[in-house]
Amino acid sequence: MASTPQAALQELNQKTRAISMLGSCASLLGWDERTYMPPGGVNHRAEQMAMIAGMTHEKMVEPRIGELLNIVSNSDLMNGGSTDAAVIVREVGRSFERATKLPQALVEELTRTSSLAQNAWEEARAKKDFKIFKPWLAKMIDLKKQEAEAVGYKDDPYDALLDDFEPGATVKDIEKTLTGLRAELVKMLDKIKGSSRRPKGDIMKRRYPREAQEKFGREAADRIGFDFKRGRLDVTVHPFCTGIGPGDTRLTTRYDEHDFNNAFFGTMHEAGHGIYDQGLPESHFGTPLGDAISLGIHESQSRMWENQVGRSKSFWKYFYPKAQQTFPEALGDVTLDEFYFAANDVKPSFIRTESDEGTYNLHILIRFELERAFFAGQLQVDDVPEAWKKKYQDYLGITPPDDSIGCMQDVHWSAGLIGYFPTYSLGNLYSAQFFAQAKKDLGDLDADFAKGEFSRLKKWLNDNIHAHGRRYLATDLVKKVTGKPLSHDALMTYMNAKFGELYGF
Ligand code: ZN
Repeated sequence: MASTPQAALQELNQKTRAISMLGSCASLLGWDERTYMPPGGVNHRAEQMAMIAGMTHEKMVEPRIGELLNIVSNSDLMNGGSTDAAVIVREVGRSFERATKLPQALVEELTRTSSLAQNAWEEARAKKDFKIFKPWLAKMIDLKKQEAEAVGYKDDPYDALLDDFEPGATVKDIEKTLTGLRAELVKMLDKIKGSSRRPKGDIMKRRYPREAQEKFGREAADRIGFDFKRGRLDVTVHPFCTGIGPGDTRLTTRYDEHDFNNAFFGTMHEAGHGIYDQGLPESHFGTPLGDAISLGIHESQSRMWENQVGRSKSFWKYFYPKAQQTFPEALGDVTLDEFYFAANDVKPSFIRTESDEGTYNLHILIRFELERAFFAGQLQVDDVPEAWKKKYQDYLGITPPDDSIGCMQDVHWSAGLIGYFPTYSLGNLYSAQFFAQAKKDLGDLDADFAKGEFSRLKKWLNDNIHAHGRRYLATDLVKKVTGKPLSHDALMTYMNAKFGELYGF
């Protein structure tokens, strides 16, 4: 038993390291499940995962953690709240509180429902029949409402769900930022719609041999600073990045021989996540000081490398001659300018994951607004398909012909991930605000990129964001790094400049 605050802190760190170690085993099993596991392994893997989840939960709600938190938080290790110990108490305290407030029965019911609802969702999507998914969606929303009540909140039950993904964010702040963003986006898209300029449509859909795509994507990920000695790139159906632990970060992508964008920008995106994971302080593994802040900040890193860097003209000044060498058949007769325009084509589409940089956030806004409405009881589950179609017509000017590419295209709701979507848009907003600051601090980054030089930007991200682990909440980090709270200004300034030049407004 700990006698001094210092000993209590050590014991607490040992406990969170053990929890993280289990988490990293689960990540590795999860990675394997989605890359190399033979289909026959599915049941045994589910049992392995359930066992680890149970062990993790048990460790997270150990009363001893509460005692240790108490000893440390009442000691002079806190020193006004800015010390390592204070960060650990704040962050471990939050997960401990959340885990202990959730009744075991609700946790189990959520796990079971999520697995059954995902099955129903897959079937419903394949048959384009919302009726199959409907009762499960209703049940999931009901359970998530119970979760919010159990966890507790100040102003809005949605905050309790959001807090799981984006600690410290409130729906009130997010709503204000996103509503401002929506108005500006719609204005920008109107200008693009009114423009007569269009990229040559077929460039990205020509034939790009798979091996060449893989070699090219790998080269780009390596060049921007993803360390392949401490990471891998493999193939999967729904790409992701997972940090297994110090020295081991796994990227995944998928290849389509008639689509350049999917694998290339997907690899850049996941490499951005990977660079963040590789930049976390290894010596703090298993404590909040060695962990990523939030989904929004994680997404800001992936989106920055994918978009601000990967879809910039200067990036392609360096990479385009290599692309032409690698894909002579597809790109032999295409100029750099034509390729750059094609990589930045803005066109309303039904599927979020395939949408362009200009329309992406409207897809998120639609989901966020619907979640808010059904969570507040203003929208019934029966009416979700129609509400979805109406919003797509209002914001993007298109109506999905069926629900499989409408309200059933994403896995999130069936998996119980409600309050998750807004973190994608937060990621885009954070990424633009960070990138504008990096340019201010570092000067002409475009000159760097045109030479294939990305290390100054990577180091800036390492120093200003990755090295801190969870020391700051996302809302505080953005103020610390950029001097301003999060707003839509930087993203809109960046997009209006880029698309204004391309589309002539
Ligand atoms: Zn991402």
